[in-house]
Amino acid sequence: MSVKVNSAFASVLLAFGLLLPCQLGLPTTTNQGDRIIVFVPTRQAQLDWLELIHSQAGKPGEVGENVRFWFGPGLLNQETIVFVPGGDYGRLVAAIPSSQDTYSWWTVQKENLGKLVTGETRRSSDISSAYRTYQEILNFLDQTQSTCGSFCSVEKYGTSYEGRDLKLIKIGDDLPSKRIVWIDAGIHAREWIAPATALYFIDKIVQGYKSSDSTIKSMLDNFAFYIAPLLNPDGYVYSYTFTRERLWRKTRSAQAGGCYGVDLNRNFGYHWGGQGSSSDPCDENFRGSSAFSEPETRAVRDKLLAIRLRTISFITMHSYGQDWMVPYGYAYNVSVDNYAQMMRPVQAAADKLKSLGRNYDIGNSAVVTYPAAGASDDYAASIGVPYAHTIELPDTGQYRFLLPQSEIPRVGLETLEALKVYLGYIAAANQPRDE
Ligand SMILES: [Zn+2]
Repeated sequence: MSVKVNSAFASVLLAFGLLLPCQLGLPTTTNQGDRIIVFVPTRQAQLDWLELIHSQAGKPGEVGENVRFWFGPGLLNQETIVFVPGGDYGRLVAAIPSSQDTYSWWTVQKENLGKLVTGETRRSSDISSAYRTYQEILNFLDQTQSTCGSFCSVEKYGTSYEGRDLKLIKIGDDLPSKRIVWIDAGIHAREWIAPATALYFIDKIVQGYKSSDSTIKSMLDNFAFYIAPLLNPDGYVYSYTFTRERLWRKTRSAQAGGCYGVDLNRNFGYHWGGQGSSSDPCDENFRGSSAFSEPETRAVRDKLLAIRLRTISFITMHSYGQDWMVPYGYAYNVSVDNYAQMMRPVQAAADKLKSLGRNYDIGNSAVVTYPAAGASDDYAASIGVPYAHTIELPDTGQYRFLLPQSEIPRVGLETLEALKVYLGYIAAANQPRDE
């Protein structure tokens, strides 16, 4: 979810040999392929020009017609990263205002973003050794179900805009008396570490159950897990398939003005349409034409409503930022009634993460990041789920959405350890009453 700006990103690309400094304002490559350009405006006129190009998205004949803004425009001295199709590169470069300084205010990458964007070489069959494709994720759910018998079941809870299955896996005794922990991931397409972490959970919880791991067994004595690892498969497939759209965030539904996609995490029906969401279908935070306009959010809503009374915790995983948040996020200065109660297990989880070398910010969503109306955790809290959270997984800005897949096991492990502490706290604080 986070769109924090960090000037380290361009230097990371440079370090990977993906960017070359532009000398004298001229591009360093001569072929007509697609390009990534990083701008660092130091003057207001440069920032104004970037805003102008940004405003031209989708407008036929304009220089910015086909330019995609991956980051920014933001503030002075912060980078703006754009994707430019080869056919538009020349006219965009010709339109860049010349610098009054001795150095160029923009750089162009040497080739395409390469391995960092398309995913790295696979290493093993371990589910957590790589970022997985949509089909691999479905296969993993089916394989897991086939090995754990009646203790797990895969359920199709809906269908995406482009017709893909929306699936979740239930782990544990799915008895009416059992409280449910809902965990989802992948509502934003480019946040690949989130689905990867959900798959890690599924793998380790099932393995722990089979091997009689005492902590896992205790968790399963107390809770049943409903884990939906990929809420936005259309966007994920798009991000995964097309190199130049690795940083795609939304769904892929056709919208007015020739633009695509809805930000599903602005489409839930609690204070829908408020701060931090856009009515412009071309914007990254487009909230949709109405609350629950999208099949993906309707499917989650219907499932949640069906299990509402049994659900004790709702966790939705994003990246990046290292934040563990509680509602409400639709505006500043609005908290759930049980904020203090909800924060206690979060504090325990953050302490655990800190002991593992990872610092998380915790607290109210709007305060920790920014107001964002129409988010799923707000909705979960609004229908009475006692604990509801958005987790922004690592990192804090070095790799942003492009966290190397070699980080999956560490992120998975530390998040699972934090979850154990978190759920242990909730179990102790919410013992079922003896009737
Ligand atoms: Zn997100």
